[in-house]
Amino acid sequence: MRYLILSDIHANLDALEAVLETADGWDRVLVLGDLVGYGADPNAVIDRVRALEPVAVIRGNHDKAACGLDDGGSFNHVARVAAAWTQAQLTGANREYLRQLPSGPTEIDATLEVCHGAPFDEDHYIFDAYDAQRAFEHASRRVCVFGHTHLPVVFRLKGSEMAAAVPEAETQGLELEPETAYLLNPGSVGQPRDGDPRAAFAIYEAEQAFEFRRVSYDVERAQRRIAAAGLPQALANRLGIGR
Ligand code: ZN
Repeated sequence: MRYLILSDIHANLDALEAVLETADGWDRVLVLGDLVGYGADPNAVIDRVRALEPVAVIRGNHDKAACGLDDGGSFNHVARVAAAWTQAQLTGANREYLRQLPSGPTEIDATLEVCHGAPFDEDHYIFDAYDAQRAFEHASRRVCVFGHTHLPVVFRLKGSEMAAAVPEAETQGLELEPETAYLLNPGSVGQPRDGDPRAAFAIYEAEQAFEFRRVSYDVERAQRRIAAAGLPQALANRLGIGR
């Protein structure tokens, strides 16, 4: 079973289309939240995701803010402006779709679970070894795939030994070792923050391997859409530098 894993698409239709064009050989789709927020095409992105018939879609903090489940009180100014804009754009059907998304973590099979932020808190960012330790303690599966930070990363736990690594793009894939637990972040489709503006996604081959993938897309087109929508210019600028 090969899963296409998409996280933090953030209403970036150009990035999503590029990922779907390049990703091949997958059987099922998993979406780790933040379908919307920041980008200019929330409805088109939700429609595209729904058409993929993913086996699991969990909500992110921006999805909650866009459909009125959260007031965005923890957001910075730009994120709040984008959430209000998104809320006004959403069709009734897509607002309802976001409202019914589960919070995660969601167990996919005997080995894999997915969440947006962390297994113990959907809104918590896993940045460092301390967060990762907590996440390993709470994970109900050997492999936990998460999003939210927009930073591709591998945390590995074997016995009591933990290691962290930033994956190289276009690696041959991380081979999963036996008796080792993993916390894996594929990075963000629609708003990468690791300095590489290319869209990030992953292909997970159940119990075998996790491929971190990147694909170039038409960033300038996505930036023009953001400008035309009247969203803050900062949201267009950051796509160009992947921060
Ligand atoms: Zn996000």
